[in-house]
Amino acid sequence: MEKTSDVVIVGAGPAGLTAALYTGRGNLSTIIVEKMGPGGELLNTELIEDYPGFKSITGHEMAQVFEEQALEFGATIEYGTVTEIYTDGKEKVVKTDEGDEFRAKAVIVCSGGTPRKLGVPGEAELGGRGVSYCAICDGAFFRGQVLAVVGGGDAAVEEATFLTRYASKVLLFHRRDKLRAEQVLQERLFANEKIEVVWNTIVEEIVGEGKVQKLKTKNVVDGTQKEVEVGGIFIYVGFDPTSNIFRDPIKKDEMGFIITDDKMETSQPGIFCAGDVRHQFVRQITNATGDATTAAIAVARLLESLADEERGSAEAGLKATASQYP
Ligand code: NAP
Repeated sequence: MEKTSDVVIVGAGPAGLTAALYTGRGNLSTIIVEKMGPGGELLNTELIEDYPGFKSITGHEMAQVFEEQALEFGATIEYGTVTEIYTDGKEKVVKTDEGDEFRAKAVIVCSGGTPRKLGVPGEAELGGRGVSYCAICDGAFFRGQVLAVVGGGDAAVEEATFLTRYASKVLLFHRRDKLRAEQVLQERLFANEKIEVVWNTIVEEIVGEGKVQKLKTKNVVDGTQKEVEVGGIFIYVGFDPTSNIFRDPIKKDEMGFIITDDKMETSQPGIFCAGDVRHQFVRQITNATGDATTAAIAVARLLESLADEERGSAEAGLKATASQYP
């Protein structure tokens, strides 16, 4: 399949759907290419309490509203995993693993990222059999069991609290003696009697026959090694950006997050970027949507100036032709 539009947006998370809302309202034909389903990280989040205008809303509900609003203004969603983005003359090309090709005058990359792996023995082997990266998806399978969570950021702290709905006990393993999560999330965590924070401790191995049975842990301060019986382990140690989809070199930071200017334009003219895949100080839904708004408006301005240029050169061409044939 080959389709052409004014703008192609890669990814239908909060950033992608916001960009589509704005390009749609700007009357630009808009195609979003998404690999799973609209919502992105919202679908892995139980409750959202830090998006102004909503005191509390489930991730699924918010994803639905974002999608409806984007589609209402004319965007369409195509499904496929984007494997390559490049410039071909005046057009940008977005290709998918199924060989579909989307051509546009500009691209907004909102491709987010994937959960970072711990990289310890047993993690890959027991994936889906007690090793999980999504408490909302898998938490209910572990009713009444002792669960482990790894990490000390917003995600680990939030999801450890969520898992207490099902687990008899949650052990939060953090490699330092201080969490980096937002204060309000920490307070909720410390107030929950079902959660024990295991400080200064790393997980060195995940052990089990067919399913997770225990963890081998090490205290990084005194070197003590322990074996801890758990029914499952939820890993929240950050995520890696999906930024390896460009044919030509693009400016990224040392972790692979894409660097943009203040219009959200990347080092490749006409390719913009917003959301979790972008190099930035914080990764929240609010700033993903803000940056996507900037990117969409910058794209609209770019397309206007390209149209002006084309009109200008067409008029100059007409004048030149007229002067040749008086
Ligand atoms: P994060 O903020 O990068 O935190 C990752 C945590 O994992 C850190 O505590 C880090 O420890 C630990 N870690 C990293 N590598 C590790 C390893 N190999 N072994 C053990 N621990 C390791 O990641 P995140 O919590 O997934 O959040 C990602 C972004 O999304 C953040 O910007 C966050 O603010 C945002 N987010 C926001 C919300 C919300 O607002 N409600 C919810 C979820 C996510 P150190 O602390 O020692 O570095």
